Amino acid sequence: MKVERLLFIGIIIIIIIGNITIFFPHFRIKDYKKTIELSYQDEYVRNIGIICYGNMLECKDVEVIEEGFIDTSKVGTYHMTYTLKHDSSSKVLEQDLIVKDKIKPTITIDDEVINVCPNGKIESKIKAFDEYDGDLTNSLKTNIKDDLITIEVEDSSKNKTIIEKKVTTKDEIAPIIKLNKEQELSIEIGSKYEEPGATAEDNCDGDLTEHIEVIGSVNPSKSGNYTITYKVSDKAGNEATISRIIHVYEKYKQVYGHGTIYLTFDDGPGPYTEELLNILKKYNIKATFFVTDQALTRGYDHLIKRASDEGHTIGLHSKTHDYSYIYSSTKNYFDDLNAIEYKVERITGKKTKFIRFPGGSSNTISKNYDNGSHIMSSLGKMVTEKGYKYYDWNIVSGDAGETTNTDTVAKNVINSLGEKSTYVVLQHDIKKYSVDAVETIIKYGLSHGFTFKNITDSTPLVQHHKNN
Ligand code: ZN
Repeated sequence: MKVERLLFIGIIIIIIIGNITIFFPHFRIKDYKKTIELSYQDEYVRNIGIICYGNMLECKDVEVIEEGFIDTSKVGTYHMTYTLKHDSSSKVLEQDLIVKDKIKPTITIDDEVINVCPNGKIESKIKAFDEYDGDLTNSLKTNIKDDLITIEVEDSSKNKTIIEKKVTTKDEIAPIIKLNKEQELSIEIGSKYEEPGATAEDNCDGDLTEHIEVIGSVNPSKSGNYTITYKVSDKAGNEATISRIIHVYEKYKQVYGHGTIYLTFDDGPGPYTEELLNILKKYNIKATFFVTDQALTRGYDHLIKRASDEGHTIGLHSKTHDYSYIYSSTKNYFDDLNAIEYKVERITGKKTKFIRFPGGSSNTISKNYDNGSHIMSSLGKMVTEKGYKYYDWNIVSGDAGETTNTDTVAKNVINSLGEKSTYVVLQHDIKKYSVDAVETIIKYGLSHGFTFKNITDSTPLVQHHKNN
């Protein structure tokens, strides 16, 4: 046989075998891809092309059993296995599904022109966000060249965004100093001044607290107002200052005297008189009580007795303490005075001739009730003629209206002390905050050379000028 003939027969055989395959039923697969790409937010849809079972004349649907796991919300490569079945024939297809993030991150900038500090710190707020990765601000990369800045950011799937902007380089903003503690501080003389300091923050240079210069000083042993100035500059020379005032105050004037202090208490007795008597007893100090007989003193008569028994002087203030009554006529005044006088004598068994006019002999309130008779001038003479001795005061504690603060009452009394030989202090034992100041006053007086006494016949008169 010729070689050409053999070749011809061979080709024919190949064609016949090929055609047998076409006619022989099998899984027919079209457009199948071993690898498929998806966007991360896409929905998964099976994609293995067109498949049927049969030959070129007839092709039937096949059953596909799908195995594997895919989560399109997460970037990654997922492997799927598809088993094709038809009657007793089967075939396995493998497929890789690659879930990708194909969206670029976005960059947002607050300002149109970006300001850069001389030290390269970018002042404008630049943010980066990626649909898939979220906030990418920390992954931002910047590069400044001349008056241009290149800002770039890349997400985890290598999608990159690059923008270019104009920049200005300057620092014209001064640091901000904040004081620790208040701008005005008060310390008592003799206590320690501890510098509370300040903090400083600069837009370009950050924390400048360490560079704050503290100018000025406080002498805590000398009263007065002191100014401390805090100064700081940033590297560009922008300066900031802030000041604080420190008041060094003298709570109690340190006065050493030799005078006698007569503590006197009006308007009682009352709910705090017992406590007061206990304090006086503790220091063995005698005082003077100008008592009344008003509704508020009811139930405390025994304290008049106790005060008297303990050596205090009981003086007369008023039965009613009713200005409109006692100052409307001299008769009413003496009716009222005699009533409290008899009561005191009944309680204590002792006579007393010491009196204190309600409102003091210098009061002007009596003008409201005396029909122009200048009753205080009359009463001043009349009581003296009748053998009474009236006492006003030369130290006002302020407890009758100026203050309700114990410290202030004590301070008012103490800071009124000086070189005089006689001090008559006006307080009210129906006021707790005033009674509470007594111990401080006593301690101060005793430690500064003063003596405490009750009013007696030998007490110098302390009387005001009449104002009515
Ligand atoms: Zn009074």
